[in-house]
Amino acid sequence: MKFYSTNNKNISVSFKDAVFNSLPKDKGLYMPLSIPKLDAEFIENISNRSFQELGFEVAKAFIEDDIPEQELKRIVDETLSFEAPVVKLDDDSYVLELFHGPSLAFKDFGARFMSRVMAYFSQQNEVTLDVLVATSGDTGGAVALGFDGVPHTRVTILYPKGKVSPVQELQLCSNGPNIQAIEVDGTFDDCQDLVKKAFHDPDINKRLTLTSANSINISRLIPQSFYYFNAYRQLAINGIDDPVFVVPSGNFGNLTAGLLAYKMGLPVKHFVAATNANDVVPRFLAGQDYDPQPAIQTISNAMDVGNPSNWSRILDLFDHDADGLKKLITAYSFNDDATHVAMEQIFQKDGYIACPHTAVAWLAAQQYRSEHPSDDAIVSLSTAHPCKFPDVFPAPMRAKINTPEVVNDLMGKEQSKVKLSNSYDDFKGFLMAY
Ligand SMILES: *Cc1c(COP(=O)(O)O)cnc(C)c1O
Repeated sequence: MKFYSTNNKNISVSFKDAVFNSLPKDKGLYMPLSIPKLDAEFIENISNRSFQELGFEVAKAFIEDDIPEQELKRIVDETLSFEAPVVKLDDDSYVLELFHGPSLAFKDFGARFMSRVMAYFSQQNEVTLDVLVATSGDTGGAVALGFDGVPHTRVTILYPKGKVSPVQELQLCSNGPNIQAIEVDGTFDDCQDLVKKAFHDPDINKRLTLTSANSINISRLIPQSFYYFNAYRQLAINGIDDPVFVVPSGNFGNLTAGLLAYKMGLPVKHFVAATNANDVVPRFLAGQDYDPQPAIQTISNAMDVGNPSNWSRILDLFDHDADGLKKLITAYSFNDDATHVAMEQIFQKDGYIACPHTAVAWLAAQQYRSEHPSDDAIVSLSTAHPCKFPDVFPAPMRAKINTPEVVNDLMGKEQSKVKLSNSYDDFKGFLMAY
């Protein structure tokens, strides 16, 4: 399969090129030249397939022969090393738990797949790939744990001192020798600037083969469609019809992956996009202009995005047909007060502790149900484990959060990090000494 830039359909590149140069020069985003259709038999017999088999079929439809079948199968199996269960809350309400991977957030799917795809291509070229990432929390953990122990790769992760949660810091600092955490005495923006400068620095590029692991990489998107199929499978096994998916959204990668699954033939009744106060998409779907804004800080901070990078992919998938989009997608936005109340309500009503991102989705599910009464199954995607955000819960709820075994395992491991100032000279010196 070839991939084109959303800004220029006439130029297409190989999968490998789209993975390593994730940003086309024309500033568009890569998309597959065509969306492969899975045949009807695939959906009819979906309950006979495992998560890994579904993932392989979907990946194969996009990647074709760019990675040999045996290798692709291994990559998918290693990516899907944990479950993504659909959990029932009440009558027709479900959550799809995407937080059972090593970093306890759904970004594990993308990061684990991307790391192994990159490793596969690098090993062919016999180079060590240097991945540089700046993180404000969730992405870094997924990337660190995704690349941990992956041959031919080395990851350098910069995070702002004192700005990530204890669990997040543990995930960044307790990995194997190919993962290097750097605590920067500065802000997340400082971290991003340091990474950007390094990418443009000829001295560094002479020494190291650099690549970025950012969220717009097409190899992070493809594996996210796996779990939509797998959720459908779990519902189908229980005799439940085509669901409504509610997706808590920031950069809209997760929703894009759901729409890819839909275009491939997955029967979905409707999509609901749920945002926090960063509501550029809900306003657009309500008929206003598309008007990106600076990000507003909220308690669901992994969704604090004022100018969602994947929105151009969604427009492209629908040939810029805003009416078609509005028929399939409804969007709602909720502020922090509503989110706090929702976390308490889900706990009171269903005995369930939802992270703030999941709570935003749950609110959207409630609103959609009240505006469209039906007994359709509504599945809210649960994107992170609540233990990653302890500060947002009132003490009695916090005390009830079960810390998963993987976090306890991390605590037993040796922690290592390098502390640097926010000056570029220090960071460059560090990289040049690799
Ligand atoms: C990244 C993230 C989101 C937002 O996902 P997008 O694909 O950027 O829309 C939601 N919840 C959590 C926990 C995240 O880490």
